[in-house]
Amino acid sequence: MYSTSTATDLNINWLEIDWQEELKQNITSVEELATHIPLNPTEKKELKKVADRHPMNIPRYYLDLIDPKDPEDPIRKLSIPSTDELIVAGAMGETTGDPYGDDKHDKGNGILHKYPYTALIVATEYCSMYCRHCFRKRMVGLENDQTVQNFQQAAKYIAKHPEIKNVVISGGDPLMLPTETLRKMLDSLRNISHLNYIRIGSRTPVVFPMRLFDDSLIDLLTDFARHKPLYVPTHFNHPHEITDESREAVQRLVRAGVTVNNQAVLLRGINDSVETLTELMDGLLQIGVNPYYLYQCMPVERVRHQFQVPLSEGVDLVDNARRKMDGYAKRFKFIIGHDIGKLEICGRLGDKLILKQLHARPGHQEESSRLLVRQLTDNGGWLDDLPEIQHNWSCSS
Ligand code: SF4
Repeated sequence: MYSTSTATDLNINWLEIDWQEELKQNITSVEELATHIPLNPTEKKELKKVADRHPMNIPRYYLDLIDPKDPEDPIRKLSIPSTDELIVAGAMGETTGDPYGDDKHDKGNGILHKYPYTALIVATEYCSMYCRHCFRKRMVGLENDQTVQNFQQAAKYIAKHPEIKNVVISGGDPLMLPTETLRKMLDSLRNISHLNYIRIGSRTPVVFPMRLFDDSLIDLLTDFARHKPLYVPTHFNHPHEITDESREAVQRLVRAGVTVNNQAVLLRGINDSVETLTELMDGLLQIGVNPYYLYQCMPVERVRHQFQVPLSEGVDLVDNARRKMDGYAKRFKFIIGHDIGKLEICGRLGDKLILKQLHARPGHQEESSRLLVRQLTDNGGWLDDLPEIQHNWSCSS
């Protein structure tokens, strides 16, 4: 368990502060940042260029986890802009703004209907922090509250589609919406009988746990979870993010009847070692979070060249880490979230990568559950980088 006080030395009791007031204290400019982290004039100039492309927004709580003397600090890399973000083409290959193909499945009103049984609603484009590795980097931080106004329309779409079994309320970070707005959103889904459960994707337990110290939010979630099962997929990437405050935030969700699952991303310079991955999964179990997914970093513009780990390296890393984990820690799946669907990276056979397609895009259901075999290459970091070496087959054939 880590609890450091380094970059700001504020000595605040985070349990007792007003989260809305605290949000106004977020670090959003390079000048403010330079009062906490040593930056020389050249660095300041360079970081401004990056922050102009993708805004900076760092809660003081999260900034406080950084060791200001360590330029390689993982929390620093996750939150503070780097000039590597200006690289749009390099050794790792092409990049794109929309690697998951979200835009193709946009049904309007913030709804993405990618798989028959799941609908995702983009409820907000605001987050308490703008993570440097975000795969929705093209969207977050933009001024647009249209999706909030349209949530009722999105709920009507879901009600008319009985094949939809679950809804993911996503963003941005939906838990950063005012509690009353969230209440209206949840109410509009509450009585849709074909929905088995609701997910609210949120990084607040990690970067802004103070939001979960607000009793009115916890009361809302407790009430809803009694009616319909509620899950919070969250996103811890490094053991230094596991603190007394994040544990308290998770415990409050758990006491509200919410199941908390973690969806990490494998990131170069952050968690690309056996020790860090093992410590992360073990630490999650210690605070009551289920390791669920470890995503391969997507080929996103201004993300890939800084953070992506080649698959040939990643597959060994994950296998070696799993050898040190008990059954619950190694339950997570190593995943490629691809335009064609979700693929589990099962492992390697010599120089071949074995994958299983878990979900398929609409109209291609026959691809679901098929196995794929690809040739590993030195730098290949995405499915499309790896040559296909034999016919795909399905489990039923
Ligand atoms: S909280 Fe999630 S959506 Fe928001 S910037 Fe971070 S990774 Fe992206």
